[in-house]
Amino acid sequence: MRKDVFVYRIDSADTIVSVSDNWQSFADANAWNSLLRPENVVGHAIWEFIFGPETQYLYQELFKRVRKGISSRAIPFRCDSPDERRFLELYIKPLSQGQIEICSKILRSEPRNSVRLLDENAPRSKEFVTLCSMCKKVKISPEQWAEVEEGLALLKIFEADDMPQLSHGLCQSCCDSQ
Ligand SMILES: [Zn+2]
Repeated sequence: MRKDVFVYRIDSADTIVSVSDNWQSFADANAWNSLLRPENVVGHAIWEFIFGPETQYLYQELFKRVRKGISSRAIPFRCDSPDERRFLELYIKPLSQGQIEICSKILRSEPRNSVRLLDENAPRSKEFVTLCSMCKKVKISPEQWAEVEEGLALLKIFEADDMPQLSHGLCQSCCDSQ
């Protein structure tokens, strides 16, 4: 099985019914939370792993379309770690009986100077910033979203500060592109 492609399936009630065998290598490649093990995922609703009401809405709309028999086109998204920008694509296709197959493919990654905002072990303040769940841009205002490095500078959050907590949303351009 290819290392850069990860596939999972949900049933008609949006419960995860299987994940591909390369779980560990894909999880490592994407610096996923180490608690996210197959045994903690299969049998659970996909909604436990999709954060933020806007993002959930986006996926609900995609699933509705796919269940009418229309495969999605490639949907770009990011799955960054503190040290890497990771560019992926998502494909969603219908199976029989309302099941759906969700396929993530790693296209490329770029190293960068470590970003503490994305380090889950960094100390957190009581403040919040919103990240776009799809492109991982930081919300500056409802109209303005910026790459994380630029966003931290615009929000005047400095490397030595405690990092704000993360909440998840959907930027306008990701919203429009679906
Ligand atoms: Zn976005």
